[in-house]
Amino acid sequence: MKLPIYLDNHATTPMDPRVLQAMLPYFTERFGNAASRNHAFGWEAEEAVEKARGQIASLIGATAKEIIFTSGATESNNLALKGVAEMYAERGNHIITVATEHKAVLDTCKKLEKHGCKVTYLPVRPDGLVDLDQLRDAITDKTILVSVMYANNEIGVIQPIAEIGKLCKERGVLFHTDGVQAVGKIPVNVQRDNLDLMSLTAHKIYGPKGVGALYVRRRNPRVQLTAQIDGGGHERGMRSGTLNTPGIVGFGEACAICEKEMSEESARLRAMRDRLKETLERELDEVFINGSMDHRLPHNLNMSFAYVEGESLLMGINDIAVSSGSACTSATLEPSYVLKALGVGDDLAHTSIRFGIGRFNTDEEIDYVAHRMVEAVRKLRDLSPLYEMAKEGIDLSKVEWVAEAHH
Ligand SMILES: *Cc1c(COP(=O)(O)O)cnc(C)c1O
Repeated sequence: MKLPIYLDNHATTPMDPRVLQAMLPYFTERFGNAASRNHAFGWEAEEAVEKARGQIASLIGATAKEIIFTSGATESNNLALKGVAEMYAERGNHIITVATEHKAVLDTCKKLEKHGCKVTYLPVRPDGLVDLDQLRDAITDKTILVSVMYANNEIGVIQPIAEIGKLCKERGVLFHTDGVQAVGKIPVNVQRDNLDLMSLTAHKIYGPKGVGALYVRRRNPRVQLTAQIDGGGHERGMRSGTLNTPGIVGFGEACAICEKEMSEESARLRAMRDRLKETLERELDEVFINGSMDHRLPHNLNMSFAYVEGESLLMGINDIAVSSGSACTSATLEPSYVLKALGVGDDLAHTSIRFGIGRFNTDEEIDYVAHRMVEAVRKLRDLSPLYEMAKEGIDLSKVEWVAEAHH
């Protein structure tokens, strides 16, 4: 077993060697520009791009023409939200999204608010799910778009996307989803789910970084977008710029592998995740799962370990790569806004760990991680007067703390 162990697969995934093999010729001998219409170099690149478009479409039940290539999901989210807001400005200016979305959606909405859009940020229930009645009530005759992520990148919670899609269709409102964490991991189908737009990225499904796509529905309804990058009119005029052929080939191959192996892989990762969870729950008390276990990605676990300090815990497991609910932004140590939205208190948010299990993790690694976590938490709690008091039955919420003078 090699250290450190990578268990942060919601942040990015290692590239599958099969993906790299498919990409390699397109850096060197097959270097053509897919937009070159006059010679074989261009045709060869275009053929490779179209094959990838088909592989990506196939994974999500779309048609190849509905796939618009971008530089990643941040760009796709920007294009979906800004492109719809601009194109449908005469119909309305209201957008509905959710407090637990990725920053690429939330910050785009903030920007749109500066330009005259009205945005409703729906809260979530303590299990992380959107309340469908609240969503229904939020739709007005000015609503042009609902954007709800398929699965959350921190807590892995899967939203009721098919129900939301049905509701949006009934109300004649466009529906966008950030599908980054779900596509390739669980079955996603743009028809079943009534999706109009969906953001994707290759590097979360064992493909290369810097390449993504936006699914844009072409029929029933035909979704239109105002381009955010102008130029040569590539990608049906929605996103100009020379296509990243090797990246796109890799993205396509990554999707084809997911389509073939997803059901076996998700069962395998789920078993590892469940074993990790069971060991931590058996060996430690005062641990809390963040987000619904019933509506959750099979490879995600997000847990808070009370009475330990988040930073110390991370240092105690420094041969394991995971994320914590403390976002270390510049000078401040802000707890995760996602956990906050679930109503998790600051203390528990700070001591949360996100485990993201991936294709290349092994049972041996998971057992090592479980062992190291138990060891680290116990060690920190042995030094914690709070934990000791809690174990003695003292209700910490009733303790009157006296601030110590600083000298
Ligand atoms: C990673 C991620 C993104 C951003 O994707 P990039 O391709 O890195 O820009 C957007 N949304 C979610 C849910 C993500 O996890």
